[in-house]
Amino acid sequence: MAFDLDMIKKVYDRYSTRVAAARKATGKHLTLTEKILYAHLSEGDAKQAFGRGVDYVDFAPDRVAMQDATAQMALLQFMQAGRPQVAVPSTVHCDHLIQAKIGATEDLSTAKDVNKEVYDFLASVSDKYGLGFWKPGAGIIHQVVLENYAFPGGMMIGTDSHTPNAGGLGMIAIGVGGADACDVMAGLPWELKFPKLIGVKLTGKLSGWTSAKDVILKVAGILTVKGGTGAIVEYFGEGARSLSATGKGTICNMGAEIGATTSIFGYDEKAADYLSGTKRADIAKLADAVAEHLTGDPEVYANPEQYFDQVIEINLTELEPHVNGPFTPDLAWPISKFATAVKENGWPVKLEVGLIGSCTNSSYEDITRSASIAKQAIDKHLTTKAEFTITPGSELVRYTVERDGYLGTFESMGGVVLANACGPCIGQWARHTDDPTRKNSIITSFNRNFAKRQDGNPNTHAFVASPEIVTAFAIAGDLTFNPLTDTLTNDKGEQVRFDEPVGIEMPIKGYAVEDAGYQAPAEDGSSVEVKVDPKSSRLQLLDPFSAWEGTDITGLKLLIKAKGKCTTDHISMAGPWLKFRGHLDNISNNMLIGAINYYNNTADSVKNELTGEYGPVPATQRDYKAHGIGSIVVGDENYGEGSSREHAAMEPRHLGVRAILVKSFARIHETNLKKQGMLGITFADSNDYDKIQEDDTIDITGLTTFAPGKQLTVVLHHKDGSTDSFQVNHTYNAQQIEWFKAGGALNIIRRQMAS
Ligand code: SF4
Repeated sequence: MAFDLDMIKKVYDRYSTRVAAARKATGKHLTLTEKILYAHLSEGDAKQAFGRGVDYVDFAPDRVAMQDATAQMALLQFMQAGRPQVAVPSTVHCDHLIQAKIGATEDLSTAKDVNKEVYDFLASVSDKYGLGFWKPGAGIIHQVVLENYAFPGGMMIGTDSHTPNAGGLGMIAIGVGGADACDVMAGLPWELKFPKLIGVKLTGKLSGWTSAKDVILKVAGILTVKGGTGAIVEYFGEGARSLSATGKGTICNMGAEIGATTSIFGYDEKAADYLSGTKRADIAKLADAVAEHLTGDPEVYANPEQYFDQVIEINLTELEPHVNGPFTPDLAWPISKFATAVKENGWPVKLEVGLIGSCTNSSYEDITRSASIAKQAIDKHLTTKAEFTITPGSELVRYTVERDGYLGTFESMGGVVLANACGPCIGQWARHTDDPTRKNSIITSFNRNFAKRQDGNPNTHAFVASPEIVTAFAIAGDLTFNPLTDTLTNDKGEQVRFDEPVGIEMPIKGYAVEDAGYQAPAEDGSSVEVKVDPKSSRLQLLDPFSAWEGTDITGLKLLIKAKGKCTTDHISMAGPWLKFRGHLDNISNNMLIGAINYYNNTADSVKNELTGEYGPVPATQRDYKAHGIGSIVVGDENYGEGSSREHAAMEPRHLGVRAILVKSFARIHETNLKKQGMLGITFADSNDYDKIQEDDTIDITGLTTFAPGKQLTVVLHHKDGSTDSFQVNHTYNAQQIEWFKAGGALNIIRRQMAS
């Protein structure tokens, strides 16, 4: 699991020249965010991109991290690149597929059985191509990354929305789709729209019941779930420096809930302490040498309004503990107002389950603060009223807190320790309930609380708070209880009150672990065989997509003219289909089944021009494919908005759709189509959408002179013998046209690797 010190040295070596060049080019002092971004511009962009006016920019991230659900397709695609090894250090983490039901040991053993083929694939593909592999039970991706790989001033992409957790150690860490991870592992640059900058100045110091979690709960209340969109949030000030590195991780982690691209703190003593505490003093030493570059310029923090697009100030001394929810993480309640809110809104007062841990809040500090409350419950003869679970974020933390007696304390108060995995946080929770139709309340120290997120039950009102507040609520079993001011009746009938929680930032005896659950890759993976059972329904090796035939594309059938919103969920539905995310052919049976057919206002019912019958979209397309006939999908505005899921682009390509013609694309989906070698085009005049008739046969011409900025032509052959034609636009640059011609970006890399 060794971190790559040489790689970090190289990154730091770039800093002084890049920061100096950026200062010269912009004539301004720099924020930390700008310094890190400029230090990671890919070589091609390094000269012209300094300055915030630039739009999309190419970056060269230092690392890639992937969780087990999203890693499957990313790695299947990577295998197509023909590289012997990943181009940058990369890791896979088995955390999302473990269901919480009974307790850590039993649940982990069931998961290993149920997901064997996925784990075998991920372990073998990691072994072969040089990726670090974290086995099931090793921990949750973001906690493991913070403990092992995050470093100040680095840049990482990860195939999970809470990748920004690593911002707690000063790394720009951004959640992406599998296609982006595949590109970076294959050695391609990674493109990002240059973000807006939000500065959060923290003054004062936390005390008593208030913790780092309350900072982000407060920020979520201010900015709402949309307020961080397209922005990087940079925290600074004396209050920021007073927070532990893991507390900062919590804040950055939950920045995903305000839609932020990522969040970040500067390098400081707390970061150095955490690096040393996790056996990475060498990195702290390197960081100390370039410390001036690993924080914003003093002039920036003295006059933040001049350098950030928006500035927020929070005084930690005055900050109250918060409880946010239900159903959205930005409904922020200071604890003093929460009981009234519960009563006035008629939310279920009885608390049924309290859950602590997850990647957001399972540091040693979190556990010790919560355990100090649990210990009081035991000492003060309080019986825990709600169910209570603990999800450690990593085996390192779990082993250490067990050694130090804290898990024992939780168990004594009635807590159940779950596997070091996502579990209830992502709905992998076989919750015990006698009546799922009853409105009910739960409270977690996780990050997301949208309806159905934890237990799939729309009647569950989920609230979010710090682990110590969750623990106190679980003991009380009552959402109108205020642990700061109220008393509880103990088993002897006495009124007792909690003292303030007390925590320890890092273990006094140091972190310890027997088996962290890490598998290092083979030195030479050339003879390692990637394990995929040909009969598997969950995994399938990919075949390269075929290259463009070199002529115009003619004789296409209209597969569907989609009406209105067509998001990536309409194109490739989630839910039960996700179990096939590593099997392109099987998951393709969900292709466009959510899209509404313009001609009959019905989902998943389109006319098969070969039979005249209406049938499901995937079956119709498979029939065209079997007859060697291509097809076209027509769509409305912002086609492909939503998640960055690459399946939405791969499925049509796999089933033989030749082009997607829409009024406008969501940008990420458009790029994903290009990467897969698909033709994505837009109406020059959106009224031409109305010219397309259900029984049309369609040609796309101009492809033999396909060039950037040059329109193509669509010809409609109507059933009555008449024709229509119109111009269509595209946004392919020269490189992307090569992708189209080769049948996909990975085909080009494979060709380059072979030569
Ligand atoms: S614990 Fe929850 S938020 Fe964290 S990675 Fe797992 S599912 Fe995502």
